[in-house]
Amino acid sequence: MTEENKRFTKGIIKKREDLTNDLWKIWIEPEEKLNFVPGQYCTVGYNDIERPYSIVSSPNEDLIELFVELVPKPLGNLTPLLYELNIGSEITLRKKPKGIFKFQSQFKNHIMVSTVTGVAPFVSMIRSLDFNQTDYNIWVFEGASYVDEFGYLNELTSISQKNKKVYFIPTCSRPNDPKNTKWKGKIGRVNEIFNSICNLEKADKENTIIYACGHPDMVSDVSEKYSNKFNFIEEKFWKP
Ligand SMILES: Cc1cc2nc3c(=O)[nH]c(=O)nc-3n(C[C@H](O)[C@H](O)[C@H](O)COP(=O)(O)OP(=O)(O)OC[C@H]3O[C@@H](n4cnc5c(N)ncnc54)[C@H](O)[C@@H]3O)c2cc1C
Repeated sequence: MTEENKRFTKGIIKKREDLTNDLWKIWIEPEEKLNFVPGQYCTVGYNDIERPYSIVSSPNEDLIELFVELVPKPLGNLTPLLYELNIGSEITLRKKPKGIFKFQSQFKNHIMVSTVTGVAPFVSMIRSLDFNQTDYNIWVFEGASYVDEFGYLNELTSISQKNKKVYFIPTCSRPNDPKNTKWKGKIGRVNEIFNSICNLEKADKENTIIYACGHPDMVSDVSEKYSNKFNFIEEKFWKP
């Protein structure tokens, strides 16, 4: 076996769902099972270009689910290629998912702040928890410009309705845009509204962790405001 073969495995796209013209989900069947912890990312390759993607699925699922945003050419490199792939297409996967952005089970209160695809690691974490066995308070915040970008609206809403200690708060930052006129939920930028909704002023700081994932400007803003007061971890999806 060559060094290459030891590090990579094949992945076949088994399912695809397009949400908008630049956001889609794919489900990949890895030739060899990927062992990961919810919150970690896998490395996807095609045509010798590789990029990390946070895994949406839980470790119990057979397929690796990803939530991907297209960065159009000429800026984007891998996503314009991935966008053209469909069911049956083959990609590469690094065998070892990585990352330290994991569920921090030592805390009681979990405040998860995301933008669009940044919700991916939080969905994996939530899918992996057994709410009958745990006593966590969990807030999942997701910010988006357009309401059709909330890729897990139904799933997270349903989980929060079934579990009194799970709160899902999607927020739309451009409520006046014609695409968003039917939106009845929260409005405003996620980094500017989450603190008042979960009453951070009164939070038990020692037992609370804030996670921020997605757009680097949102993550930096949350970090600047709260990382010195709260337990805090972050995942920036790109460099500004
Ligand atoms: C740990 C980690 C997890 C990630 N998870 C996801 C995920 O779940 N879903 C996902 O879609 N992406 C995710 N990303 C981003 C992903 O790795 C790629 O960078 C992204 O898909 C763009 O790839 P590309 O090759 O087309 O463009 P790149 O060659 O990577 O980037 C081209 C340029 O676009 C900028 N850029 C990259 N992404 C965006 C964006 N979304 N919006 C605006 N500018 C951007 C880059 O800074 C760069 O200047 C993650 C990144 C990291 C570091």
